[in-house]
Amino acid sequence: MIRRLPSSTTVTCKRCKTVHLNVPVEYDEDGPYAELDTEMCSEDGCMKELCPSCQQFVCDFCQLTFCTEHKVLDGGLEVCSECARQSVDEGAEELAEAREAEAVELAASRRIPSFDEVLAMAQEVVR
Ligand SMILES: [Zn+2]
Ligand SMILES: [Zn+2]
Ligand SMILES: [Zn+2]
Repeated sequence: MIRRLPSSTTVTCKRCKTVHLNVPVEYDEDGPYAELDTEMCSEDGCMKELCPSCQQFVCDFCQLTFCTEHKVLDGGLEVCSECARQSVDEGAEELAEAREAEAVELAASRRIPSFDEVLAMAQEVVR
């Protein structure tokens, strides 16, 4: 007698406790397993399996899916911690460039004699 194998099952997500009905069951040499459409968190070393109902977000910069633990708000954008770090690095670079430009401007402005210098020069002429 052939045992009829179920083609779908109910899976409860361990993470968000969502009950997924009619999840297709696949069979391989290890036996049946539920083919729930999950995505891995893209953060290095996180390895969290996210079901469609799990708290997750797609990074606005790299377009990868992450669990919400790595969500960072960057000026209205939802970005992953890695992209946020890079964005901070870029911001620091821009700041350094701006400081450099300011220093150049300051050096240029120093070539113009100050009021006191002009006064000293004028007094020298008088003497
Ligand atoms: Zn879930
Ligand atoms: Zn990202
Ligand atoms: Zn994660």
